[in-house]
Amino acid sequence: MSENLDWIEFDKQHIWHPYSAIGSDLPVFPVVSADGVRLRLADGRELIDGMSSWWCAIHGYNHPELKRAMADQLDTMPHVMFGGLSHQPAADLAKKLIEITPGPLQTVFYTDSGSVSVEVAMKMAIQYWHDKDQAEKQRFLTIRRGYHGDTFGAMSVCDPETGMHSLFSEILPQQIFVDAPSCYFGHPCKGDGAKALRKKLKKYHSDIAAVILEPIVQGAGGMRFYSAEYLKEVRSLCDKYGVLLILDEIATGFGRTGKLFACEHADIAPDIMCLGKSLTGGTMSLAATLTTEEISKSISQGDPGLFMHGPTFMANPLACSAALASLNLLLDSPWQERVKTIEASLQNGLAPCRELPQVDEVRVLGAIGVVEMKKPVDMRQIQPCFVDAGVWVRPFGKLVYLMPPYVIEQDDLHTLTSAVVDVVGKCPI
Ligand SMILES: *Cc1c(COP(=O)(O)O)cnc(C)c1O
Repeated sequence: MSENLDWIEFDKQHIWHPYSAIGSDLPVFPVVSADGVRLRLADGRELIDGMSSWWCAIHGYNHPELKRAMADQLDTMPHVMFGGLSHQPAADLAKKLIEITPGPLQTVFYTDSGSVSVEVAMKMAIQYWHDKDQAEKQRFLTIRRGYHGDTFGAMSVCDPETGMHSLFSEILPQQIFVDAPSCYFGHPCKGDGAKALRKKLKKYHSDIAAVILEPIVQGAGGMRFYSAEYLKEVRSLCDKYGVLLILDEIATGFGRTGKLFACEHADIAPDIMCLGKSLTGGTMSLAATLTTEEISKSISQGDPGLFMHGPTFMANPLACSAALASLNLLLDSPWQERVKTIEASLQNGLAPCRELPQVDEVRVLGAIGVVEMKKPVDMRQIQPCFVDAGVWVRPFGKLVYLMPPYVIEQDDLHTLTSAVVDVVGKCPI
């Protein structure tokens, strides 16, 4: 193809990418369109998508129903401020979110990214205790290996090592950490699985506003799957010690783990829940923080009687319309079956990796397949290998992982897993 690609050179010199360096010689691939489970590169190659654009594109790309919903909204009102004004897309979406999330969650705060929805959750917890005359409850307790976003509040509860805390340690609030649960998903927590957490709660509960966790799946902090028993135990410890529970379902929400929300594996409800990523089916940036009537009332009736946050693009109508269409599409689809089928194919397809000397562990849960290597992969080498194999897989550190769109067909999924087995097997040991 004779496409002019001067812009990609410009990009390298002038545009930051996620966790990137300007002028880096790491490859960046020009993509010109995306349809279904395929990304098309400028040179005409098509890649099968194994990433869902970081958990988001659950229906695949360019979906006609999502496009129709956005086109209709574009025609009438792509955006309007949310201070003093409201619109039906915001109300319809909130109604749906309240309906499908655990019962106690009754109010919705819209933000434009997952990180900000975490900031909002943390502020809600602090304001709640302030209004309960327990203003000293300002700290957060969490587990290591977590990831909650890149803004300062969110960063403070990310894993202190992999989250690159040390660079910012002077300015970050000092939170309380315990080791990540060692009991694996589907297994009981032997002995007292949440002992470390219990000890910290016992000691510091009068300073702790909330425990914040990713339920069941720790995503960008290590792609680990932990026991539902642990999560259940955390819920009861929070109740016992008068501490709120914030569940960050930004990655796990909307079916990825086989349940609509990962907290359903433990049959518990949080006091505050963060949603984002696949909320709009990968089309627009939108996130939401849901909370209970009790917390909402307390914040609203306390001092200053307002919740202190209000983004410019709050409840963007275009994003709300996309999200509503995405949810309807999901809920009208046989998503449980699809995720189950993907889970079985990932299990089968990635199993040969277990025999490879380069590989430490293979684990699969729902539509998430993880190959943990013994050593960090060399992105300079591995990324072009995956592209040459016709797939889009983006490893990080020691983790090569797949989380394809739910609509992926068996053949494409097979191509994806075979490519992982092939490419990983060629990595230098
Ligand atoms: C991606 C992610 C975030 C941050 O969301 P952004 O939209 O990137 O700000 C927070 N928590 C979890 C669990 C995530 O996976």
